[in-house]
Amino acid sequence: INSFNKTNVNMIYIANWKMYGNLADIKSLKNVINLSNQKKFKKSKIIYCPPFTLLDVFIKKTKNSKIIIGAQNCHFTNSYGAFTGSINSKMIKNIGAKYVILGHSECRQAGDTNTTINKKIISALSEKLNIIFCIGETLDEKKKGNTKKILKKQISIGLSKVKKNKNILIAYEPRWAIGTGITPRLQDLEKTILEIKKICKKMPNVYSNLKILYGGSVNNENSSQIVKIPFIQGLLIGKASLNSKKFIDIIKKTII
Ligand code: PEP
Repeated sequence: INSFNKTNVNMIYIANWKMYGNLADIKSLKNVINLSNQKKFKKSKIIYCPPFTLLDVFIKKTKNSKIIIGAQNCHFTNSYGAFTGSINSKMIKNIGAKYVILGHSECRQAGDTNTTINKKIISALSEKLNIIFCIGETLDEKKKGNTKKILKKQISIGLSKVKKNKNILIAYEPRWAIGTGITPRLQDLEKTILEIKKICKKMPNVYSNLKILYGGSVNNENSSQIVKIPFIQGLLIGKASLNSKKFIDIIKKTII
């Protein structure tokens, strides 16, 4: 891995709680809040994305801390309507969340296409929410050598018609690495991150403020190597973020 001076990088840590967590689990936030208030943490960011049911309590609990709260998905329209079971970006904004994860592989698996993800992104940006835009190939696509092609499609459709990019973080999350305990080989990951960078370079709106994160089975053992990869400016952490001790260990090991 070639050297890259990350001295000025502000690390971003995203906790994706998926469909886990109840009121009792909020207690575990205390230690993370304490960590985020430490001086050496000044330049970095922790973004918690709990399920919708916990957004309000998380926002209240973290009010006087540096922790930022995000949602895990939103509907593609930002107007209100007869969409039983759905939540739009206006509602997310209204409750005080600042980010929304869009394009997560579990949502893609549940039916989200590049086009619907694009609509969701446009809708969330119009509410001035920040976007955590997830991209990544499946194992089959990887085996066929199609990773670059897939990422290109996800980025170009997902971010089409996006005027300003300053609110978008791109999280590279190979689907085969999510929740499997498997992570890409470091040299492969480095190559893919550079490819993402190259794809985005052709999209000036996206490129000028590009931040790339990695997600997929990040843990205490692999995280310090992963963050050494050039241009990785943060981690999206699923399972390990449910346990505050594990989450804190990862942060402590990787903070720059
Ligand atoms: C995720 O949910 O985006 C994720 C990366 O999960 P995990 O860390 O559990 O693989």
